[in-house]
Amino acid sequence: MTENPLPGTASEPIFELSGVQYTYNNRQVALDGIDLVIRPGEQVVLLGANGSGKSTLLKILDGIIAPTGGRLRALGLDIAAVVDGFDAFRFHREVGLVFQDPDIQLFSATVMDDVAFGPLQLGLARDEVAARCDEALGLMEIRHLANRAPFELSGGEKKRAAIASVLSLRPHVVLLDEPTAALDPRTKWVLVNLIRRLGEAGRTVITATHELDIVPVIADRVVVLGEDRRVHADGAPAEILGNRDLLIAANLIHEHLHEHGGIRHSHPHAADEPHVEGHLVDGHLGPGDVEADPLAAAAPWTPLAGIVDPSVVAPGPGGPG
Ligand code: ADP
Ligand code: MG
Repeated sequence: MTENPLPGTASEPIFELSGVQYTYNNRQVALDGIDLVIRPGEQVVLLGANGSGKSTLLKILDGIIAPTGGRLRALGLDIAAVVDGFDAFRFHREVGLVFQDPDIQLFSATVMDDVAFGPLQLGLARDEVAARCDEALGLMEIRHLANRAPFELSGGEKKRAAIASVLSLRPHVVLLDEPTAALDPRTKWVLVNLIRRLGEAGRTVITATHELDIVPVIADRVVVLGEDRRVHADGAPAEILGNRDLLIAANLIHEHLHEHGGIRHSHPHAADEPHVEGHLVDGHLGPGDVEADPLAAAAPWTPLAGIVDPSVVAPGPGGPG
């Protein structure tokens, strides 16, 4: 756990946002009135389509930028003061942001140098720096990469190194911006399980993503940001992922209407999922049946079944169209 105890009691909020707005260049609205309370130990996913304000919100939570409207109290501090430097040193020991692009976080000759950077900045003794680096590398299971150059790592290895470089500060709060973006499936699930363990160890973990399938693994709470840059929903993963209309409205899945073999039908796709042909058992629908959803008819809407997986749905006669 952290050396600096968090202010107040365990139930005192870590973040308390009221009417938080952020506008870039006086013009580009990125957040439009966010009310949110996040408590210690919560595992929160900020779920939203591209451009819904997730990265902007994480930068505000991390004290990099101050809201242009409304208020955020973080660890008992006014975030605007932290952005101006007040108690910023303590704040950044407690809250760490892992950027979407690991190349922003990794700038040293070796992974070890990057992971040691934060603790060295804290002025800790060599033994303590070494212990923290070993712990952070161990948590991300990359001790074997300590002496490698970051630029020669794979995407998934870079990501784990970037997270380790934040963990070596032993922050209580870890903010992750689209940690699984652009990773192949195996690498992605390895990382997702490592993120889950961070939460299990008692940290507060806030992950921005639009990938629905990782949500049940890493979240006990989901906050949905809409394309109007407001909070559309806030609830348990099963409740949010089971709400198909909400997911469609937030552009997290889309209703795909199409036709093959003279049969028109619609079904939901993850917003960024390529369309998969041959997923329908022909004959379930008559020509002209537009509204019916064969997946929903077969079983109650479940989010992960709704994201078409060609391995679980038989192709129609004559194979994929
Ligand atoms: P997300 O991370 O959910 O994709 P962002 O927080 O990056 O969303 O962006 C929210 C909105 O703010 C978008 O409309 C985006 O175009 C705009 N935006 C983000 N960064 C900047 C910037 N540096 N300058 C101007 N507009 C920006
Ligand atoms: Mg983003």
